[in-house]
Amino acid sequence: MRLYKIRKSKIDNLGLYAAKDIKKGSKIIEYKGKVITEKEAEESPKYDNGKAIYLFNLNKKYDLDGDFKFNTARLINHSCDPNCEVTGVGLKLWVYSIKDIKKGEEFSYDYGFSFDEDFKNYPCRCGSKKCCGYIVREGSRWRIKKKKIRK
Ligand SMILES: [Zn+2]
Repeated sequence: MRLYKIRKSKIDNLGLYAAKDIKKGSKIIEYKGKVITEKEAEESPKYDNGKAIYLFNLNKKYDLDGDFKFNTARLINHSCDPNCEVTGVGLKLWVYSIKDIKKGEEFSYDYGFSFDEDFKNYPCRCGSKKCCGYIVREGSRWRIKKKKIRK
């Protein structure tokens, strides 16, 4: 049985939701895509914007581009308090639960965007108590709080 369902999301358009209760550490869905070399990723204008949502680093040599319709896992939204993470196993990527997840909860992971001058173009609507308002990786969120204080 599939662990996920596709449904409309409050965060952004569509999302993936737990079809049943899921224990922490479960493999939920493969993050499918095309394996490309680092060089291809660097040279293709497709990945120019620095916010390559669907591009994952696999190792020193290869990245995985998940920007394809067949990659259902690309529907998973960002959250500032995520319940999943994407982990590489060889040249494959899997979405794992990092918490116990109840049936009907939406899956999310940290998109890991770096903090730079265009962070305001990526507002976050995850709705969690920890939400910093923008899609920025956890380790950089303090920078946003600092900005808000300075205003
Ligand atoms: Zn958020």
